[in-house]
Amino acid sequence: MKISDITIKTFRTYADRWDVGHALPLPNTQMMQTVLTIHTDEGVVGHYFGGGSHGDNEGLNVVDQQQILWRIKDLLVGQDPMDREMIWKWMWVANVQENVASVIDNALWDLAGRYANLPVYKLMGGAGREKVKAYASTYPNIGKPHVYAEHALACKNEGYIAYKIHPHYFWNPETGQPTPGRPSNIKADIETCHLVREAVGPDYVLMFDPWGTYMTMEEAIQVGRELEKLNFYWYEHPMPEYRTESYVRLSRELSIPILSPEIIAGGVFSRAEWILRGAGDMSRIDVVRGGITGARKTAIVAEAYGLRCEMHMAGWGNLQVIGATSEDTSEYYEKGLLAPGVDYDAPHPYLKNTVDKIDSEGFVHMPKGPGMGYEIEWDYIDDNLIEPNATTKKTHW
Ligand SMILES: [Mg+2]
Repeated sequence: MKISDITIKTFRTYADRWDVGHALPLPNTQMMQTVLTIHTDEGVVGHYFGGGSHGDNEGLNVVDQQQILWRIKDLLVGQDPMDREMIWKWMWVANVQENVASVIDNALWDLAGRYANLPVYKLMGGAGREKVKAYASTYPNIGKPHVYAEHALACKNEGYIAYKIHPHYFWNPETGQPTPGRPSNIKADIETCHLVREAVGPDYVLMFDPWGTYMTMEEAIQVGRELEKLNFYWYEHPMPEYRTESYVRLSRELSIPILSPEIIAGGVFSRAEWILRGAGDMSRIDVVRGGITGARKTAIVAEAYGLRCEMHMAGWGNLQVIGATSEDTSEYYEKGLLAPGVDYDAPHPYLKNTVDKIDSEGFVHMPKGPGMGYEIEWDYIDDNLIEPNATTKKTHW
């Protein structure tokens, strides 16, 4: 079998989103989504949705698309689509942008799964788990501290068994205005953690992720000590991730597990270095930072050191990697981002199925279909095609 073509369809779709700069819901927001397809001479195909922004709900921008259609396609046409490892290595050596390389790798996994008639996680080797615990992951800036407490309790009552706070950043909860110069609001963040813990009770699993906005070790330690008192489960990405030594010291200083790096460049390679440095207690990766191949490799590296590797973000690909990884290594699925008034569970019009509805016990189930598990509404996509350079509002930083 040989790769014969790579195509990308760009189309408009709609979903509820949250305006993180103004703390307002954005109901039924128009977004740009893409589906990349790898074609073969035997008629087998592989698809991947997403590649831009958070999760897999938003598509590749025009520059990313040009990289694929004008550079990568020429090199891949004629290659065996089952040579994922060769293609993955070539894209790293060639310094292909991470999200772009990931979309190719993810589509090749979908293709292989369709060819074998197996879900990707079974093709990789299932870890004997058909479901995963989900946590409700908030948007940042959902409101003043009491709003988080009310939202956490609502999520708990809805059946979520854990809740992760993205607190206030690049936004001042007192004034309700964006604050680009001084990103963090530590006083409000600490108050939020206390009110949320009070609302959900002492045993509920809580995580905290200020997304790298604490500028000094002292700030990171100050909040970390509060999280320890409040029995939080992990402390994610507290400082900018290009200061590795700060993370080495923070991990020594605090007893709460530090979960990082999550957004640093370099995929499995930078995560391996972090582990050797002792720069975090748990690792983190997702399928747009080196594809399913890179995410699975990262989980294996972490496992070899007895560390957890928690998958970053929601979506079909991340869920497949979890299905191939033991619960000891990847315990939770990040469901979201969620905010009051945002109907996250509304189905996407371009798919017949949804990826991550929780069951009555708070679990998300592995997709059962071949490949990634998508059941695609091609009619919707073809009726809503737009130009790749059409501008739509980016709904997350
Ligand atoms: Mg995070």
